[in-house]
Parts: sequence; structure tokens; C-alpha cells
Amino acid sequence: MTRRVLIIGAGLTGLALAHGLRRAKDIDVSIIEQAPVITEAGWAIGLTGRHVDALRQLGLTLEDIAADTVSRTILFDRETSVPVGIADMGIVVTSRSNLQLWLAKPVADLVRTGITPTAITDHGGHVEVGFSDGSTGEFDAVIGADGINSWTRHAVFAGPEPSYVGCAVIRFQVPNIDGLDVTAITSDGSLGYFILNGGTTLHGTLFLPGEADNHRDRTLAELAEPYRDLRGPLSSLVRAMRAEPTSFYANINQVVTDDWAKGRIALAGDAAHAMSPRIGQGAGVGFQDAAVLSELLALPDMPVPAALAGYATIRQPMARLVQQHSHTATLRTGQANGALDFGTLANVGTTHQRSH
Ligand SMILES: Cc1cc2nc3c(=O)[nH]c(=O)nc-3n(C[C@H](O)[C@H](O)[C@H](O)COP(=O)(O)OP(=O)(O)OC[C@H]3O[C@@H](n4cnc5c(N)ncnc54)[C@H](O)[C@@H]3O)c2cc1C
Repeated sequence: MTRRVLIIGAGLTGLALAHGLRRAKDIDVSIIEQAPVITEAGWAIGLTGRHVDALRQLGLTLEDIAADTVSRTILFDRETSVPVGIADMGIVVTSRSNLQLWLAKPVADLVRTGITPTAITDHGGHVEVGFSDGSTGEFDAVIGADGINSWTRHAVFAGPEPSYVGCAVIRFQVPNIDGLDVTAITSDGSLGYFILNGGTTLHGTLFLPGEADNHRDRTLAELAEPYRDLRGPLSSLVRAMRAEPTSFYANINQVVTDDWAKGRIALAGDAAHAMSPRIGQGAGVGFQDAAVLSELLALPDMPVPAALAGYATIRQPMARLVQQHSHTATLRTGQANGALDFGTLANVGTTHQRSH
């Protein structure tokens, strides 16, 4: 019998999951997305080898998308500019908007845009969902991939709310006018960049530990001041900051919950485990969720509640581990050696077993 699966949210996780489920026999998958059109403001997304493996499991290879490889990053002492470490990265970096559109195109026919859920009831044998256009639907499984402020998490699990992790981040992109070919970060983890678009663009991030909204009123030129004496490749970024490129400020929040699955409904991606972007793992962990969900929901003779309970059991320890690393690294930002965790998570696996 065909299994009907509804995905709420056509972000990176929901779209990746749609790819995986569409490949499975006897699964009828559909997605609803609140935005009228799938577009995504661009910033850089870094994916480790394990994240790329998860995409491959979902039938996706990064060969047909523009991506840059970062093999290592040099850490520079923030005060003296002395190189103090080299972090092995082994990641590919691509623009978030490219990734989103690349994921969306082949499954566009499965997505209904401009629609939100208004009610959800698990009747045991099926889930009934009401939609904002007045329609209703019956599904065998519903996956809430609706991001950090997940409607599904609130409707089914009564929360929790995201919590602020004690740090904000500013990101900006500038031309790579000095032709840098090595990525760099301050040893306290506060300022760094990736090289994007085949070497033409620097994607800078400035982490600002402190209360929510700290330094929000400052210009990028003002925020560059404490770094003005930096020498080496980071000086190029600091110079670019003085020219006031367009930048985006965000308080960093996370979601920590054990409630990922209940009956025929489960959460995936940021809805289940939004984490600090300090070590750039959130999207990849969502892809790993999607890979495991696709595999378990397609198992023959496996009741949906058991598949979803198994998904939570398998994925939670790994996602929690990465989230904790991200949180610890965030708390250490601004301190001596605050960048030490950078690049250490390349081998965190999809499942508990694979990590050993
Ligand atoms: C500054 C920054 C840098 C980052 N860098 C990295 C990185 O280098 N590597 C990495 O792996 N991760 C990174 N991340 C994290 C990554 O962006 C997120 O983990 C990832 O986008 C989560 O994807 P998602 O699909 O789970 O959620 P989202 O991307 O939030 O998608 C959720 C989707 O659901 C839709 N939606 C929401 N509510 C509803 C509703 N009620 N009905 C219908 N649709 C709904 C939304 O419109 C959206 O399309 C970074 C994050 C930030 C903030």
C-alpha cells in the first residue's frame, strides 16, 4: 500500500527529505511551504564529508552545483597575528541560495507554496492536517521540517521555544581583491572567512559574544577597529569591513528537546535541533536526519510510529553531540584558543554506530 508522507517546510532539510522519499517505492510525498516562492538569501554553507555522504544517500551528488573546497584553515593569534594552528577542514562550501535552489528544482512538483498548516491530529491510523487554504488532508506520516520556530513543534509537542546562546553573528560577502587562496580565522574564533564563488568572494563572519543584540547599532567599520592591527590574510577582510559592505546581523538561538517523534509525527532539521552556526554544522545535520528518515520510512512492513521512534533513537545522540560542540565553541568565542573546535567535526556520522 502506498504510504502518504507530508513534509512541512521546504527548507534545506525538507527538500533533501523529499528527494530521499521520492526514490522509495510506494511513498507518496508532498511538501507545504509558507513562502510564496522558494528563494533564499545567500550565505555560505559548509558541508563535511559525512554531510556529503548523507546527500549521496538521498540520491544527490554535489558535482552539478558550484562549490569550493576548503581543505584547511589557518588560525592567527588575534593580538600578535602569529599563526598558531592549522585546522584540517575537508569541507565543501557553497552558497546557501544555490544549495536551496538546486535542491528545490527536481522536487518542485511536490511543493505547494504559500500554504501553512492550521491544525494537526494524530488519529492513530492516520494524521489529519488542516491547511490555510481551507483544505484538509490525511497522511500516514507528517514530518515537521519547519525550522527553528517550528509550528509543528509547538502544535504537537507544546514547545520548547528557541533559546539565545549568548552570541550574535554578523555575516557579509566582499570581493576577494587580494586573491587570497587560504582561509583564515582569529584564534579566538571571532573573525574569519571562507572563499566562495571559485575564489572571487570572501564570506566573512564576525561573532559577537554578549547579550542579545549586542553591538547591533555599530557599523561594520566600527566593529573592524579592534582588528585593525591584524596582519596576514585577515587584514584583507578587515580592510573590506571598513568599506561597509552589506551585512546581516543575527542573534544566535538553539532548540534543545528530546521530543522528536510522537506516533506518526516527527521533527527534523532545525525544528528538532537548531544549533549555533559557530562551527557550521546545522544544515548538514538536517541532511543526515533526512537520510535516516528516508531509509526507515521506506523499510518494508515497518509501522510508521516504529520507524519514527527509531529515527529519533538513532539520530538524537549524534545531533545532540554536534549541538553541544557548537554551543561550547560559541561560549569560547572571544577567549584565547576559542577557535580550537573549528574543523573538528568532519567525521561525526549519520548514526550512532557509524561514529565508532
Ligand atoms: C549565519 C549562519 C551560518 C550557517 N552556516 C552553516 C554552515 O556552514 N553549515 C551548515 O551545515 N549549517 C549552517 N547553518 C545552519 C543552517 O542554515 C540551518 O541549520 C539550516 O538552514 C536548517 O534547515 P531547515 O530546513 O531545517 O530549516 P529552515 O532552513 O529554517 O527551513 C524551514 C522551512 O520551513 C518553512 N516554514 C516555517 N514554518 C512553516 C509553516 N508553518 N508552514 C509551512 N512552511 C513553514 C520556512 O519558510 C522554511 O522554508 C548556518 C546558519 C546560520 C544562521
